[in-house]
Amino acid sequence: MLIVNKILVSACLVGRAVRYDGRAAAIDHPIIRQWQSEGRLVVVCPEVLGGLPVPRPPAQIREGTAQDVLEGKALVVNAKGEDVSPQYLGGAAAGLAAVRKHRIRVAVLKTQSPSCGPQETNHRGSGEGLMAALLRLNGVAVFGEYDIELAAKAFAGLDLEPPELPRC
Ligand code: SF4
Repeated sequence: MLIVNKILVSACLVGRAVRYDGRAAAIDHPIIRQWQSEGRLVVVCPEVLGGLPVPRPPAQIREGTAQDVLEGKALVVNAKGEDVSPQYLGGAAAGLAAVRKHRIRVAVLKTQSPSCGPQETNHRGSGEGLMAALLRLNGVAVFGEYDIELAAKAFAGLDLEPPELPRC
């Protein structure tokens, strides 16, 4: 059985100052601290990986969903009116590459982000981001920073050894 031991996490959630406004969005959660101390976190900022600077104008998905952007049916446009879809798509692809490299099945991503936002954000109700959608479509369980306990449960399930079969 494959033992899965890494978790993808948004860089701004672990204190990296990579947000559009040049700030971080660090969360102080015991589970994140534990994963960090165990070396389980793979930290990515898809917007920076896609080539965008810090700081940068905020952006949003226009007239469609993240999946529409992935399918070329909608755009990501920044506050200056520039089409930044290629950078967002590049960042999402880089996130997927990290997932494949480390065989990751669980991600904890920043809500309210056009890149990282999980599909169902029970607490804030914003739309899904591009990387979150791409990961979800590739079998990754994506959670927001308000659902870390759920992420831990999903992760623990993946890490379980198979039960011993009875001998006969
Ligand atoms: S793209 Fe994701 S990791 Fe980067 S700043 Fe935005 S929410 Fe944080």
